[in-house]
Amino acid sequence: MKNRRLVMIPGPTPVVRSIQDQMGRETVAFGDPGFVNDFKELLADLKDLWKASGEVFVVAGTGTMAMEMAIANTLKAGDNLLIVSHGFFGDRFIELAERKGIKADVIKSEWGKIVPVEEIEKKLGEKKYQAVTVTHVDTSTGVSAPVDEIGQMMKKFPETLYIVDGVCASAGEREYVDEMNIDVLLTGSQKAFGVAPGLEMLWASEKAIERRKEIGTIPEYYVDFEKWLPVMHDTSKYYATPAVNMVWALKESVRIIKEEGIENRYDRHIKVGRAMQAALEEMGFGILAEKENRAVTLSNVLYPEGLNDLEFRTILAEEGAQVAGGLGAYAGKMFRLGHMGNVDMHDMVGAISAIERTLFRMGTDVLGKGVARFQREMLK
Ligand code: PMP
Repeated sequence: MKNRRLVMIPGPTPVVRSIQDQMGRETVAFGDPGFVNDFKELLADLKDLWKASGEVFVVAGTGTMAMEMAIANTLKAGDNLLIVSHGFFGDRFIELAERKGIKADVIKSEWGKIVPVEEIEKKLGEKKYQAVTVTHVDTSTGVSAPVDEIGQMMKKFPETLYIVDGVCASAGEREYVDEMNIDVLLTGSQKAFGVAPGLEMLWASEKAIERRKEIGTIPEYYVDFEKWLPVMHDTSKYYATPAVNMVWALKESVRIIKEEGIENRYDRHIKVGRAMQAALEEMGFGILAEKENRAVTLSNVLYPEGLNDLEFRTILAEEGAQVAGGLGAYAGKMFRLGHMGNVDMHDMVGAISAIERTLFRMGTDVLGKGVARFQREMLK
């Protein structure tokens, strides 16, 4: 049977019709009064929902560009940066920092585990760091960092900026900028916001904006806070052309978030994430991340002995669900399944049943078991 393909990779996630419609609208001039107002309302909502009293930037680009924007505006060559890495995306900050001549120290956990907060605190006590980076959910490991706990600890180091990569978390895992003492929170449109790739969003505290001013002229041009601030304060101004339709699409995503209620949305992600992880274990898979630090936006799923990755993902695609492969040392040993954003019951049950059919075709009959477990957990 030919199946509609469910995109269950950890981003881009399924884009609902009302968001697609915004991307399909006739593009207007970026000075169009309607657009100027829509953009302004979007920025205000992003600050409200993330309880951020500082600044917010919405700029065309991806998560990687947001990482670059965070580093470029808060650190200069010769500064010290502490990178807390829970996997591939945590490590991405290393090269980024090195290219700018920033001196980076890295504390890593074994994949699937977290770096204990005490270890970060100890390291910060050893020398002066201008900033720390933490990846909220590292998509390569499915580990969720205790961003709130780290933020509270960071109050002891007021001269060190706290940078959080929320690309695989924002709009799915709880993030409150001021309360969590975050100085820069960066993210992208294509994951828990459920928008197509193409926008990056970044919140910056007053302290981060101050730091940018202290640094003076920076080598980067497009991602400079100082260039974008006038536009973020008055959306009729021009610096570089805003991605008109993407801004509308993000505004529709935010409308959906407000309609659901952001707290309800976070709770839903917890419920769906835990139910999905229980269903995967029921079908005989393992989960890489330790239970206490498991993300709710995606699952990093370990194959049982003898199951071939390529064969599994090929058959699964035929059965109508697309998942992502493992990264680094886990290539061939793991697949990654996204369950964030605007996914619904049909997407989830459809994905689990496609996994069951795939296992059946590969010789393991667990038909109905994963779906039953998922639904029982969801109906609790
Ligand atoms: N950080 C994290 C945690 C990510 O998951 C990703 C993308 N998977 C990135 C950064 C990079 O984002 P992008 O691919 O949008 O550049």
